[in-house]
Amino acid sequence: GSTIGILGGGQLGRMLAVAAAQLGYRTHVYAPDRESVAAQVAAQHSQAAWDDEPRLAAFAVACDVVTLEFENVPVDTLRFLSGHVAVRPGAAALEIAQDRLAEKRFVAGLGGRTAPFAAVPDRAALDAALAGIGAPAILKTVRMGYDGKGQARLAAASDADAAWDAIGRHPAILEGFVAFDHEFSVILVRGTDGEARVWDSPLNVHQDGILAASTLPPPPIVRDQQAEARAMMERIAEALDYVGVLTGEFFATADGPVFNEMAPRVHNSGHWTIEGAVTSQFENHIRAVAGLPLGDTAAPRLPVTMRNLIGRDIDGVPALLADGACHLHHYGKAEVRAGRKLGHATWVGTEPA
Ligand code: ATP
Ligand code: MG
Ligand code: MG
Repeated sequence: GSTIGILGGGQLGRMLAVAAAQLGYRTHVYAPDRESVAAQVAAQHSQAAWDDEPRLAAFAVACDVVTLEFENVPVDTLRFLSGHVAVRPGAAALEIAQDRLAEKRFVAGLGGRTAPFAAVPDRAALDAALAGIGAPAILKTVRMGYDGKGQARLAAASDADAAWDAIGRHPAILEGFVAFDHEFSVILVRGTDGEARVWDSPLNVHQDGILAASTLPPPPIVRDQQAEARAMMERIAEALDYVGVLTGEFFATADGPVFNEMAPRVHNSGHWTIEGAVTSQFENHIRAVAGLPLGDTAAPRLPVTMRNLIGRDIDGVPALLADGACHLHHYGKAEVRAGRKLGHATWVGTEPA
């Protein structure tokens, strides 16, 4: 059989490896992390740095195609690998998704609606940005943020010093605070032939900047706005000649869907597709990068609820195991930490008890 290489060692890689195995592929995980939950289920594992060229070259030789589960893989690593093996999605998508400024400019350039934003390379630029955008606003590091880390909210211009310190004085972007009704995502998959499919958009609820739950069906405003958001994500995927799953996060507002950010990978808000859709995001990502036909994205049984198990939520596992309607996913991470995603649970065709 063929081997699919996965860059990154987290739970997304783990679920990709399971889907790949079901389709008859072997997986080879490449991740610098000492604890890799993806490597626990992969056929092979290389634990090495992103810039270790001899190890990367050996990995490339062992794989028929390489994909990723982590969008902060250095672009240089992707470029190096691309000289040896097909890498899907490619460096262009990562380069944009790793940089919040480049991402917002790219999407605005394609006609997408974003929050008002301004570059904040230094402290002085923050005052200028605030004068233009006004408060309330959110200051975000341009690179490396996730789960709401590297962000500070400003209720008034007088919060500027505190916000600048809170994000570690890194190059940043200031965004106007979007008054949204709901958050939702578009999960799209695009094949090597350019065919794109989407799943129904879930409603996403965040707590403390971390996704807590995704549910379907979403409220009417999300259903009304998903078509425009999908069209946006299709334009983005086409412009990048993207292959694989691409996720867009949106705010549903009175003015229509507002693009927040994208992830060039499978996404937490798509975990419900494992049991809730005919073909999961993980299976369709593997199909796409392997050059296979895409599977049906329909969600035949509603309602669907996916809840994350974050930190001490994992103590609820015995109760979830006792719930005959619950599909439990335990990521097998060694360490329980507050704010860490340790598993998720999904209910299909019924509300959670
Ligand atoms: P993720 O874990 O999804 O990658 P992240 O750290 O990249 O998160 P964002 O998605 O940009 O951060 O922001 C986290 C959350 O903060 C959003 O889901 C939303 O609830 C809120 N938020 C972000 N930007 C704005 C904004 N401009 N206006 C209002 N709320 C916002
Ligand atoms: Mg993000
Ligand atoms: Mg986000």
